[in-house]
Amino acid sequence: MPSSPLPPLSLASLRAGGKVALARALARLESAPEAADVVALLEAAYAEPRAQVVGLTGPPGVGKSTLTGRLVAAYRARGERVGVIAVDPSSRRSGGALLGDRLRLRSDAEDEGLFVRSMAARDRLGGLAEITWSAAVLMRALFDRVLVETVGVGQSETDVAGIADTVVFCVQPGGGDSLQFMKAGIVEIPQVAVVTKADMGAVAQRALADLAGALSLAEPEDGWPVRTLALSAEAGTGVAELLAAVDDHFAWLGEDRRLAARRHVQAEAWLRAAILERWGREGLKARGLPSLAFAQAPFAAAGR
Ligand code: GDP
Repeated sequence: MPSSPLPPLSLASLRAGGKVALARALARLESAPEAADVVALLEAAYAEPRAQVVGLTGPPGVGKSTLTGRLVAAYRARGERVGVIAVDPSSRRSGGALLGDRLRLRSDAEDEGLFVRSMAARDRLGGLAEITWSAAVLMRALFDRVLVETVGVGQSETDVAGIADTVVFCVQPGGGDSLQFMKAGIVEIPQVAVVTKADMGAVAQRALADLAGALSLAEPEDGWPVRTLALSAEAGTGVAELLAAVDDHFAWLGEDRRLAARRHVQAEAWLRAAILERWGREGLKARGLPSLAFAQAPFAAAGR
C-alpha cells in the first residue's frame, strides 16, 4: 500500500507532528541542507526564535551527560519543552554516537516535551558541522530550551560559542583542567564555568578556586562577569545555582538587544563557513582536480 504523502516541511507541521516530524525534518536537513524546502523552513525558524540555546562543554568524563540529565529534568519540572543536541566527536563513518546513545537511554520516549538528537562532529578535530547550527536554529523555534552538549576535544569547545547563547564550561576536580583552560585559550568562551563532582570535597573546592583565579585574569569581553560554581550532578547539589546562572545570563542577553546581536554574529560566522564550503565545492567542480603524477608533489598543482 502506498504510504500517504508527507506534509510539506513547515514550522506548523513540525509543531503538529511532534518528535516524529522533527526527526524527519532533521534527517532531511542532513541529507539535503540546500534544498528549497529546507532553506525555507530554516528561514522561518530563524525569524521565530523562542528557546535559549545552552552549550555544555568540557573534557570527556567530566560529567556532562549526567549534568545534561539533571538540567533536562529541572527544565521539564518547570514545564519547559527541551531539545538536546549531543555532538558526537567521532565521525559517523567510524560508527561513533556513544554520547547520543547514552543520552537517548535516559530520554523518555513517551515524553513529547523532550527531544534528543545526536549529531556527528565535522571532522576528527571535533569541530562542529555547519549543519549543527542549522539544527539548533530549527530547534530553538520549537522548544523552550535547547541544550547542545559537545565534548571538549579539539575545536568543538570553542565552536560551541557559535551556536549557544550561553556556554557552560565544565571541569572536574584534580584534573588540572583549570590550567588547561588557560592554555587552550578558551577562557573567553564560557559565561558560566562549573567544577563538577563537588561531592569529592576539598579537591573540588581547590579546583573552584583555581578556576576563579584563571578567570580573574581574563577581561570579560562583553561585560558579563563569568560565574563560577561547583556542583554535583550525581548528588544534585549546586544544580539550582547553575540553572539560576544560566537564567540570569539569558535575562542579561535580553537587555539592550544583546541576544539579537550575539545571534547575528553567529549567523555571519555560519554564512562565512557555508560560503567557503559551498564555493570550495563549486570551485572543485568547475576546475576539476588536477591529475597528480605518481611521486609528484601536490603543492604547485594546488596553485595552478
Ligand atoms: P561525560 O563524558 O562528560 O558526559 O561524563 P558522564 O556524565 O558520562 O560522567 C562520567 C563519570 O563521572 C561517570 O562515571 C559518572 O558516574 C561520574 N559522575 C558524573 N557526575 C558526577 C558527580 O557529580 N559526582 C561524582 N562523584 N561522579 C560523577
